[in-house]
Amino acid sequence: MSDKPINESRRGAVKAMLGGLAAVPLMNLVGMPAAQAEGLPQVDEAKDPTAIALKYKHDATAAERVDAKGEAVRPGKPPEEQTCANCQFIQADEGDWRPCQLFPGKLVKAEGWCASWTLKAGA
Ligand code: SF4
Repeated sequence: MSDKPINESRRGAVKAMLGGLAAVPLMNLVGMPAAQAEGLPQVDEAKDPTAIALKYKHDATAAERVDAKGEAVRPGKPPEEQTCANCQFIQADEGDWRPCQLFPGKLVKAEGWCASWTLKAGA
């Protein structure tokens, strides 16, 4: 008896498993449903180490809106138009407070800003 059908079956199972693993990072890029974001804590702009390092502010107008070194303006839009709401890393399209890929498990203010701001595709 040949074991060829079993090998093909195993090959198919391995392909399916690898395909599933490859999809996990993509799920992080497509956004988090608003219901999942509810209950997450807001980033503490005064104490969160990442917020401090990235000069994050809940109110973008209170941020310098220059890079982390305090030098260059982030490209893509004039500084006064740069907010979390039009940043590539925001993970929801609606809400005053939304998940951000740079602050896992926390919410940032849609009207906020940090030094990693990057223009969202199509914004
Ligand atoms: S990465 Fe973008 S969405 Fe996240 S805090 Fe910074 S400016 Fe806001």
